[in-house]
Amino acid sequence: MAQEQETEVLVVGAGPVGLFTALVLAENGIQVRIIDKEERTAAHSYACALHPRTLKLFQRIGLLEDVLAIGRRIDSVGFYDGPSRQTELRLAELNVEFPFVVVLSQCALERLFEQRLKRKRRIKVEWCHRLSRVEPQKGSVVAEIDKLGETSKGYIVRELDWEVEKTVRTPASFVVGADGYDSAVRQSLGIECESISEPQTFAVYEFQSDDKYENEARVVLDSATTNVFWPQAGNRCRWSLQMANQDFSEESHAKERTDVLIVEQSVDVKTLARVQQRIQERAPWFKGNIKEIDWSVEVQFEMRHAKRFGQNRCWLVGDAAHQTVPAGMQSMNVGFSEAEELAGALTKILREGGSLDLLETYDRTCVGEWQRLLGIKGAPKPRDAASPWVKERCARILPCVPASGQDLSLLLDQLRLDFQGAK
Ligand SMILES: Cc1cc2nc3c(=O)[nH]c(=O)nc-3n(C[C@H](O)[C@H](O)[C@H](O)COP(=O)(O)OP(=O)(O)OC[C@H]3O[C@@H](n4cnc5c(N)ncnc54)[C@H](O)[C@@H]3O)c2cc1C
Repeated sequence: MAQEQETEVLVVGAGPVGLFTALVLAENGIQVRIIDKEERTAAHSYACALHPRTLKLFQRIGLLEDVLAIGRRIDSVGFYDGPSRQTELRLAELNVEFPFVVVLSQCALERLFEQRLKRKRRIKVEWCHRLSRVEPQKGSVVAEIDKLGETSKGYIVRELDWEVEKTVRTPASFVVGADGYDSAVRQSLGIECESISEPQTFAVYEFQSDDKYENEARVVLDSATTNVFWPQAGNRCRWSLQMANQDFSEESHAKERTDVLIVEQSVDVKTLARVQQRIQERAPWFKGNIKEIDWSVEVQFEMRHAKRFGQNRCWLVGDAAHQTVPAGMQSMNVGFSEAEELAGALTKILREGGSLDLLETYDRTCVGEWQRLLGIKGAPKPRDAASPWVKERCARILPCVPASGQDLSLLLDQLRLDFQGAK
């Protein structure tokens, strides 16, 4: 098996969090490689909102202007129970540099990251490179990587498939596992996840509507389900509707890589009417008519976190280490903060003789933050002044807030909820 040259940091996974980790490391002057088993960035919008804390991180690496130029600003989040508005979060009242959320599709964000890595740092994502395992060594780690190539199979009808062209061993001072839900890095380290709920199924619909929407996201928390509305650029919008788990047909956390309209064939008049009716039942105040569905998918989300965020020279960020329900877009956004913190610790170790204990601190900080975000420890406590509706739903409100850290505590304070977010 061929042995490659040693690199300082190997980032596994070129999703949003892996791409951002590679960018921050490169900005810090660290030699970095980034690999992904797929052939290109994602094709749809997935986690489509950027928190105030994320905007600050993007400003530091010079990406904010690009993001603001193509994203849509959100100033508040309204909370509904069927027809009635119960409460709201006023992002504009946050005393931070960017007191708003930006709606931007994940595929556009991933493209921005990839271009910036290539143009400014001359780093190309190594697509079609799949990590199979990591092997700790004294003072380094070796990653075993399969380089994948296209092959055709099928005699009458030609089908394209992927095969391993060769396997190489890549030594690195550190490996960052940003390889998502089924993380091969996490599994290779034998790290388990702590789950706190059964998976919850959401149906996501993005469509052109005939109405115009204010710069407000809306969460509908009825007695049984969580549903979220995000206005997007122009007249486009996104609804994520929680479904009964038995309706879920196929488990998939993989992201599409082709720009096809997934539901194109099935979006007939009946389907449009069914989606419209579902939205009307849960959010009677929504007046838009669906003109055309651009993208639709059903996906399951679990509330879970890795018991450790890594060990020795292999560390995890993003969905490789956690997941929560999609309403507040917390998993990806907290992943960006983790990336910043981990890249900072690795830079101190590699450039300033910092101790490996910095990584233990990283682990404790992340596990602590996720235990609070998932309500395992330090769940939000309603004050007497909180409304009965908020008191009853405070655990369900927590993952719906598009913020983390101090911003999250301050926004929950508007609802008269006490919550200790990360610093
Ligand atoms: C259909 C769908 C809808 C979603 N909707 C929402 C939503 O509404 N709100 C929300 O907050 N979140 C949503 N998400 C989740 C959101 O996309 C994730 O939180 C976000 O992508 C996490 O980013 P990440 O970089 O940590 O991981 P990912 O985006 O999962 O990236 C991991 C990368 O690692 C690569 N990889 C995996 N294994 C290997 C390996 N062995 N070797 C090399 N590369 C590997 C993958 O190809 C992938 O590119 C959705 C996800 C899906 C699939």
